[in-house]
Amino acid sequence: MRIVLVGPPGAGKGTQAHLLAKTLSIPHISTGDLFRANIGQGTPLGVEAKSYMDAGRLVPDEVTIGMAKDRMLQEDAAGGFLLDGFPRNLGQAKALDEFLAEQGIELDGVLDLEVPEDEVVRRIAGRRLCRNDGGHVFHVDYNAPKTEGVCDECGGELYQRSDDTEEAVRTRLEVYHTETEPIIDYYRQQGLIATIPALGKVDEVTQRAIEALKQDS
Ligand code: ADP
Repeated sequence: MRIVLVGPPGAGKGTQAHLLAKTLSIPHISTGDLFRANIGQGTPLGVEAKSYMDAGRLVPDEVTIGMAKDRMLQEDAAGGFLLDGFPRNLGQAKALDEFLAEQGIELDGVLDLEVPEDEVVRRIAGRRLCRNDGGHVFHVDYNAPKTEGVCDECGGELYQRSDDTEEAVRTRLEVYHTETEPIIDYYRQQGLIATIPALGKVDEVTQRAIEALKQDS
């Protein structure tokens, strides 16, 4: 299956993508995680991306699209993939369509995670990520790790993202409304959108997403 996950920052895309990818046995491709890995390794791409990310702005398309394509061309993605955080504007959505057409493949569905804005802010403020980069995401109240500061799944150290500050979050929400929301209509016209209410328990949301994918196919 080839799936795209969209939704505002803090909607739970990373958490859901991790669980869905595991259930569907496809790789979870997160452009945010790829950027963070590059920042951690100090690559030129990471150095360029960091200033945009910390400000809550989008990393330029030239950089992002190339990175996403390279990742989709890796062997483990040959049978399908779940895209999380890409595409994030119309230019990227069109570039993705061109890429898929070149490869002779199609998307199976686009899941739109819907969450009220005040909840988004609460989720982001309490969010903690695992340093080991396995897509493990926690929340100090909603999904607290058994031991504070330690990942339940792999024992890695948990940290707060540098773009989870109030100011950066405000910009990210604005960027989401102006740049990312238009891709929902773009995919609706292609008949690919399934809207998933993303309030409630993590597992319940995953279940809703799986049901929606079954109905699509
Ligand atoms: P969230 O969905 O919570 O905002 P992500 O980890 O998906 O978190 O993204 C974090 C940041 O990484 C974004 O604010 C942006 O700066 C950058 N980024 C991620 N994906 C893209 C993309 N497709 N295009 C441009 N920038 C991106």
